[in-house]
Amino acid sequence: MSTSELMNAWADHNRKFENFRFVYPVISRRAKGLSVGINCTPNGMCSYSCVYCQVNKKDTSAKIPSVDEIIFEVKEMLSIYNKTKLSEHFPRVEEKNRILKDIALSGDGEPTLYPYFTELCKQLKDISEIPKLVLITNAMQLEKILDFNGEIWGKLDAGTDEWLDFINRPKKKINIELIENNLKFVVSKFPLRIQTMLCEANGCAPSETDIESYVGIVQRIHQISPKNLLSVQLYSVIRQTAENSVKPLSREFLEGVKNILQEKISNLSIEVF
Ligand code: SF4
Repeated sequence: MSTSELMNAWADHNRKFENFRFVYPVISRRAKGLSVGINCTPNGMCSYSCVYCQVNKKDTSAKIPSVDEIIFEVKEMLSIYNKTKLSEHFPRVEEKNRILKDIALSGDGEPTLYPYFTELCKQLKDISEIPKLVLITNAMQLEKILDFNGEIWGKLDAGTDEWLDFINRPKKKINIELIENNLKFVVSKFPLRIQTMLCEANGCAPSETDIESYVGIVQRIHQISPKNLLSVQLYSVIRQTAENSVKPLSREFLEGVKNILQEKISNLSIEVF
């Protein structure tokens, strides 16, 4: 398989799989293989309204699934994966890139806002074939994650209140200190991968001050538990975004942020996508 075909597979986050409604397979850059997503918030409910959100037409009237419906589909998906390795669904993806890496609570909105989140996590914990559970979260509301049993991929896109407001557009007024404190709490209890989207919108990119402040936040999170901070993943947009003015930042820009971070925290794994 050529690199461009793998890139096409990464860019294709079509969530439609047979007659499944809430569970979908994707070939994920960041998971480095097959990731099975759970869309527990198909109505797109989220406490942010990120300028780069890649969920385009949110169907706010979509039905919220029950835990039973999700668990049924997860088990069905695992059974199909075990039999076919999803070769028909991803005919151009080599088997080595189709290995199941995780089941990710992700989807059209913020998973921690799913009303039955705790029960869902409890039942997922009992499915032994799941290699790893991942929660992809904006880290704004964490009351329900205490029972979670897996890796947390927490969003940190900004270093200043100004960039947080501009890029994530939180629906209620918060400041960057809240996100820092939430991620410090997460890293004190769970393996954490910080997810950072670096992009341009309306002709604005993060300033040196934003980046400097962002690096300081990552340093302080790292100090809480170097062992639990598994990595920082820096990436830019590769799919259609909600706002047309959003543009990816160059590889050089991302590598530049990586270098600044690495200089401050030499033993931290930093990945650029
Ligand atoms: S946190 Fe995720 S789902 Fe919510 S607006 Fe941002 S990108 Fe979209």
